[in-house]
Amino acid sequence: MADNIIKYPFKILLGLLRNHSQKLLVCLMWINFAVWCPIPTAFGETFGKDAWQNLETRYTIIQYKTLEDLKRFNGRIDYSPDDWGFKGLFSGSKDPVESITKKVDAVFEKAQKILDMRQSIKKVVIRIYPDKKRFREVQYLAGREKSRLQAWYVFEQNTIYINNDDVHEGILAHEMAHSIIDHYLTVRPPKATAEILARYVDKNLHD
Ligand SMILES: [Zn+2]
Repeated sequence: MADNIIKYPFKILLGLLRNHSQKLLVCLMWINFAVWCPIPTAFGETFGKDAWQNLETRYTIIQYKTLEDLKRFNGRIDYSPDDWGFKGLFSGSKDPVESITKKVDAVFEKAQKILDMRQSIKKVVIRIYPDKKRFREVQYLAGREKSRLQAWYVFEQNTIYINNDDVHEGILAHEMAHSIIDHYLTVRPPKATAEILARYVDKNLHD
């Protein structure tokens, strides 16, 4: 009896293979393609137990694991939005969510202003990894472990990858500039051109 239970589905499978081998091959190729081409899924989905939290701002979606990570990110971004004024420098930093929302949008607007590319684009995702170690793991998964970057931007995902150990407002502005440049121009500029423009943005952020 037990033998029959095993043999019967096996026979069906053999029959299916004989009659539909071509369709199955196409199906297997598709599955293979889907597994190996996960874009636009971001890299490193599986790390840590905590799920990614989303904080949506006017121009971005900030992704972080814990409130502590978000607070630390807020502490590393030294940028005062114009409307804060002198008082805002102190009162604005009390609530980390409100504070980082304003700062990130202000950095984005300043990058647009420097580039003179003020077109509305899809919100860019800013994914914050808590430390260098986690960040290197993601770089490894993305096949970019040799580049030793502090942050990087992936056009296909419209995502900025950041590590909380190294990030500062200049790095953030630089990576945002890449997103703005790549979406503003109908044809994406050569890498070297985009890099010169992005560097110009982070150098002039505080001017
Ligand atoms: Zn760059």
